[in-house]
Amino acid sequence: MKILTKESREIIESSIRDIPDFPKKGIIFKDITTILNNPTALKTLMNHLEERYREYNLDYVAGIDARGFIFGSILADRLNIGFVPVRKKGKLPYTTVCEKYEMEYGFDEVEVHIDAFPKENARVLLIDDLIATGGTAKAGVSLIKKVGANCVEACFILELDFLNGKDGIDTEVYSVIHID
Ligand code: AMP
Repeated sequence: MKILTKESREIIESSIRDIPDFPKKGIIFKDITTILNNPTALKTLMNHLEERYREYNLDYVAGIDARGFIFGSILADRLNIGFVPVRKKGKLPYTTVCEKYEMEYGFDEVEVHIDAFPKENARVLLIDDLIATGGTAKAGVSLIKKVGANCVEACFILELDFLNGKDGIDTEVYSVIHID
């Protein structure tokens, strides 16, 4: 299912829960725990991502802390390639490279290990659950480049189109579900 069918889109979309005013007033938080505890929805989503990315000749999937770890690990395992965590500051034990950023509801910093992508000129897919303003994704793409790898695409389960987050991201962007 390289192109997502209408039926599959509905299965995934209907499994996402809206939580108003979390973590701040005015934010509608898109809760993906309700995809994770729904085996049909999770399998439908992961089958789609696996089929899309099988032909990309990827070397690694890099997932953003923390929900990007879940989808990214499953996808990396299905593609039989390595997984790299892009972590919040202060969590990785070895030498790191760091990037500060602003996102939909605050400021943060992410890091990767300096030797996270051992293969030369590695082809990397960046993945997270959601793109809002794009600040987090931009920091992730920048980190991948800083440590010498190529970010061939950034993938999101959800994109909040009205925030135009993908503008200015220095790679291709693919989002499974778009919210106007
Ligand atoms: P941004 O940097 O503004 O694109 O924010 C994206 C990051 O913040 C992702 O890691 C998301 O998990 C999280 N995030 C931002 N806005 C929301 C939202 N409305 N619902 C769920 N997660 C969000």
